[in-house]
Amino acid sequence: MKKLIIIFCCLPTFCFAKIQVATTTTDLASIVREVGLDKVEVFSIAKGTQDPHDIPAKPSFMVKLRSTDLVIAQGAELESAWINPLIQGSRNPKLMAKDGFYELAAELDPIEVPKGNISRADGDIHPGGNPHFQLDPMRLGKAALLIADRLSSISPGDKDFFLKNAQKFQTLMNDKLKNWKDRIKKTGITEAVTYHKTFSYFCDRFEIKCDVQLEPKPGIPPTPSHTLSVVNQMKKRNIKLVLIENLYEDSVAPKLKQEVPNILIDVVPVSVEGEPGISTNEKLIERLVMAFEKGKK
Ligand SMILES: [Zn+2]
Repeated sequence: MKKLIIIFCCLPTFCFAKIQVATTTTDLASIVREVGLDKVEVFSIAKGTQDPHDIPAKPSFMVKLRSTDLVIAQGAELESAWINPLIQGSRNPKLMAKDGFYELAAELDPIEVPKGNISRADGDIHPGGNPHFQLDPMRLGKAALLIADRLSSISPGDKDFFLKNAQKFQTLMNDKLKNWKDRIKKTGITEAVTYHKTFSYFCDRFEIKCDVQLEPKPGIPPTPSHTLSVVNQMKKRNIKLVLIENLYEDSVAPKLKQEVPNILIDVVPVSVEGEPGISTNEKLIERLVMAFEKGKK
């Protein structure tokens, strides 16, 4: 009997099978790793250096998704153009079931939810609100708890394990937040220009005004006339820091440098693995806080 139990428990599908998770972004993969540790195997479809609005729906991802238990996405239509075709193409019934595809944004108190009718002329607007919550430590902590809950529904016996890990991550984020807030406050910087509205949650949390973007409209590359209006805003409001997400073209940087004296332009990662050494959510936010410290002078 003893022998039988051992054999039964060694069958990988019973006792030691890891939950197979795919995430749309590296930021979510990193949280899944923190929560699931050795009980999950996770891969991200988008790389940290890629624009998550626009990922090619490659057949190789469909094959990979065939053996996946769960897909986790940021949501708010960030990835819908490519993740839906990938899930369809995978023909994996688990992912097409209600619980197989999980979008987080709607549960994380989204900001910038558009009011009224949205037209194509407004650019690539996300009807569900801004999906780029990965730069807000508070929402990352909450996302970890939501992910723990979802993993528990797949493996109920590990519920306490997932919850404990998620809480640990949330505590780390909350503790670090205080330190990051103090450091940004110390820089005296209260405004920054960004390329896309990737920093809205970050700016909200750290009380920075980030209402000037290099894009004239979401998803539309900078135009000469819009760049001129950015230059005018920067001069008028004395804005000295420009953060260009490294997913985008930074060809407008020399023009800004030439027109506005003494500014710092930092081309920054906005996802985990977006730059060598940025291996966790914590390191990513630390990198951005350092960009403010560099921009202090
Ligand atoms: Zn966006």
